[in-house]
Amino acid sequence: MLTAKDVEQAYERIHSYVHRTPLLTSRTLNEISNFQVFMKAENFQKSGSFKIRGAMNFLLSMDRQSRDRGVVTGSSGNHGQALALAGKMLGIDVKVVVPQDASPAKVIAIQGYGAKLERFGTSSTERLRRAQEISEQERRVFVPPFDHYWIMAGQGTVGLEILEQLDEVDAILVPCGGCGLIAGISTYVKERRPSVRIYGVEPEQSNSTYLSFKAGQRVELHNIHTIADGLRTASPGELTFPIVQRYVDDILLVSEKEIAQAVVFLLERCKVLVEPSGAVTVAAAMFRKLPSGNGKIVAVLSGGNVDRQKLCEIFAMAES
Ligand SMILES: *Cc1c(COP(=O)(O)O)cnc(C)c1O
Repeated sequence: MLTAKDVEQAYERIHSYVHRTPLLTSRTLNEISNFQVFMKAENFQKSGSFKIRGAMNFLLSMDRQSRDRGVVTGSSGNHGQALALAGKMLGIDVKVVVPQDASPAKVIAIQGYGAKLERFGTSSTERLRRAQEISEQERRVFVPPFDHYWIMAGQGTVGLEILEQLDEVDAILVPCGGCGLIAGISTYVKERRPSVRIYGVEPEQSNSTYLSFKAGQRVELHNIHTIADGLRTASPGELTFPIVQRYVDDILLVSEKEIAQAVVFLLERCKVLVEPSGAVTVAAAMFRKLPSGNGKIVAVLSGGNVDRQKLCEIFAMAES
């Protein structure tokens, strides 16, 4: 089980290694959405996303022997980037399996942090299986992207900071991929301040958490096409999903065009660069996907890693 105490202990471990990111506000966003919105700016986090929190907590929780053997993961981007940076900061050897078609910016970032890189397959299932194979062959510890209590506890520190930064809050909006982030945040927040509602946000075209939540069991998707590459997960995790069922109030869906428009809005009006996966929460607020009666809300901006080619696609999509 994951508890708020685990999140507090994770925070003790990681807080000197990560940024305490600010809560941003925008009068225009408040007017458009009819909520008072606070944006938790994890796009300014080290490595460009919240994933450094879970990665750092995982590495700091490992025993000495495992650290000496090094770690491995499979990731299309942010988790690999975060683990590479966390490993560099702690002097732990990291190997990352990325898809054959990984974006050049992400590959350069991973290599820039000094991690070893292997290209394999195109799906997350393929590269996670390859990473597990490498873990056995090279006796490295496999670091999963979301389905592990150490990872969830690290991601949950986003929720801990939000409650410290804001005395009153009605609801927190969290992007859902494999649900490590929302599992950590919801566990902490529901145990420490149960009146706060937690909403997951997913792209309509990658709605495995939504479908699983409604069905009461994990649903797996194939052929996922969304601009939000951090949310292209086939299904919520085995360990994360029961927490979602227990603590999450509802899952909200946003369209591709709404996501693109949120990214453009954040750039033009708020002067911040947020990747599509991180902008789904603002899209949900802008297009009023959550029930009224939530006055003060927090939208988690989960990351800001997006390259210029992708940005061009986003601009085109927002206009379409
Ligand atoms: C990984 C990621 C998510 C989803 O997190 P999960 O823990 O897999 O639900 C959301 N946004 C960004 C930017 C990410 O990198």
